[in-house]
Amino acid sequence: MGKQKCIACSQKFESDRETLLCDECYEKYKQHIQLSKQAGVCPVCGGNVQFTEFYAKTYYAGEKLCSDKCRRIERLVKYRMRREEYLKGEDKHDS
Ligand SMILES: [Zn+2]
Ligand SMILES: [Zn+2]
Repeated sequence: MGKQKCIACSQKFESDRETLLCDECYEKYKQHIQLSKQAGVCPVCGGNVQFTEFYAKTYYAGEKLCSDKCRRIERLVKYRMRREEYLKGEDKHDS
């Protein structure tokens, strides 16, 4: 509850949920993550990911982010995406 600081853009925002990502960044990075399928490109910030053997192996597991910060953002976005999917399912179930 109350003011939170967005870990992506560092802006303070009002939130009724426990989240570290503002709505603007969530929408932005959600699109990025959904659209980005390019190897060697960070799906969060669009930066280059060093394409090492390590990344070649983890690429298919969806772990190819350029930094810890991007990894945190991705986790938050995916968590919220799952929640929204879940809530959508609930709605359907009820009506
Ligand atoms: Zn933000
Ligand atoms: Zn990144």
